[in-house]
Amino acid sequence: MRPVDRGERPTTAGGQRKVYDDYRQARPDLIGRLGAYCSFCEVRVPVPIDAEHIRHQDNNPTLSCEWDNLLLACKNCNSTKGTKVDTAADVAARVWPQTDRTFDVFRYRPEGIVELADIQDLALRARARATADTVGLFRRPGPDGGLTAQQIERATDRRYQERAEAWRMAEDARADLAKADSPELRRWILVSAREKGFWSVWMTVFADDDAMRDALNKMFPGTASDRVEPLPPHCSSSGASDSP
Ligand SMILES: [Zn+2]
Repeated sequence: MRPVDRGERPTTAGGQRKVYDDYRQARPDLIGRLGAYCSFCEVRVPVPIDAEHIRHQDNNPTLSCEWDNLLLACKNCNSTKGTKVDTAADVAARVWPQTDRTFDVFRYRPEGIVELADIQDLALRARARATADTVGLFRRPGPDGGLTAQQIERATDRRYQERAEAWRMAEDARADLAKADSPELRRWILVSAREKGFWSVWMTVFADDDAMRDALNKMFPGTASDRVEPLPPHCSSSGASDSP
C-alpha cells in the first residue's frame, strides 16, 4: 500500500485555507495531490473516484468535509470498508497510507497476490491485518481467497485481476530493460506504471533498481518517499542523479 502525503489543506487563489461545504468538492484537490489512484488497493480509477472518509461520515458529520479525514477510494475498497471505521480507536487499530509505512507491512507477489509481510511487532501486524480486512486487500479467487462466487461471476471486484495485470506488465518491462537499458525505455516504463497504477507492484518488481524506484516515487503524485525504505544517498536526493 503506497504511503502518501496529501499535504496541508489546499488554499484558494487568494491564499485562504479552503473550506468544503460538501466533501465531494475536495475530490479535485485530492486527485491533484495523490493522483487518481485508490489509496488502499492502488488501482487507477480514471473515471469517478470516491473521496473517501477515513472515519465514516454517518457518525462523524463534523469530519465529513475535513481534509485530514479524506482519502481516495475505488468503489470496491470504499464499499468493503463501509462503516467499519467510526471512532478514533478504530483509526488507531489500523495502519493508514497517510501516516504509516504501509509499503513495509504488505508483501506483493507474482500474479497479484498481496499478503502480510514478515512483521515482528505483533501490534503492528494486527493493525496491518485489520487494514487489509477493512478494505478486502487480500481478496483473490480460490477456496480461501475471500471473493464470493457472485463477485467472480459478475466481475464486480476485479482488483485482484487488475493487480495481476500490473504485475505481468512490470515483469515484462523489467525483462525488456535487462535486454537493452535506455533512458527512453525507462521513460516508457514509468509512463506505463503511471497509467496502470499499483505503485507497490512496480516497486516490488523493480526492487533491485534504485533509480527506477526513485523515479516511480516521483512519478506517482503524493508518494511519501520518506516512508519508503531508504534509498541509497545517490538516489534519494532530488537533483543531479535523477534518472529518466
Ligand atoms: Zn481500491
